[in-house]
Amino acid sequence: MNRIVLLGPPACGKGTQCRNIVNLLGLTTLGTGAMLRREVESGSDLGTDLDKYLSAGNYVPDELIMTMVNNWLTAQNGNGWLLDGFPRTLAQAESLEANPTTQPTLAIGLDVPEFELEQRIANRRECASCDSTWTVSPGQSSECPSCGGELRSRSDDALDSFRVRYANYKEHTQPLFDYYAAKGKLLFINGSNSPEDVFASIKKFLTQ
Ligand code: ADP
Repeated sequence: MNRIVLLGPPACGKGTQCRNIVNLLGLTTLGTGAMLRREVESGSDLGTDLDKYLSAGNYVPDELIMTMVNNWLTAQNGNGWLLDGFPRTLAQAESLEANPTTQPTLAIGLDVPEFELEQRIANRRECASCDSTWTVSPGQSSECPSCGGELRSRSDDALDSFRVRYANYKEHTQPLFDYYAAKGKLLFINGSNSPEDVFASIKKFLTQ
């Protein structure tokens, strides 16, 4: 049974590796950032509330995100999964540990230095239809390579917002690398390599 969590700073390549791992292992997946942005776009009261956190680059409160993720986990009926962007705080990690059926079997930690992330964020786009994330080069078409939907910049990818998100990541999420290492569950990956090389390292571990 695979229950995998993906950890890493904004724009470290979680979305890309998430797609690769899901294709390799046939897992269902939840990207918490995309789930929250969908709620904002729905225009619901909850979405309006969430937008205050997201547009400033702040994490949403633990209780809120834990309830949303728990509902999703319950609906998986004990099948394997991959979480992209959860847990991001110690309280979130402990909420997964509280139930034997939601304890991760593996945490993949992608490490990328800040200067490289700033460069990547400028070229990042998200598909309006299928929520997948892509890196574009100048002059590239704005069509999603996966579903043909429209690729667009994310409103929280402005540099100011990125810096707040990165500071939150350093303070709250990076300590989870040690948390999972202490449990013997961390696969530490250098995310600076090309997406193909990063996936080759992950695949080698998953299929050994
Ligand atoms: P990135 O990893 O590039 O920051 P995501 O799409 O994973 O992008 O997340 C976007 C935003 O959604 C985060 O900046 C944060 O505000 C919110 N978010 C996503 N997951 C969580 C979480 N587990 N806990 C709190 N906030 C979250």
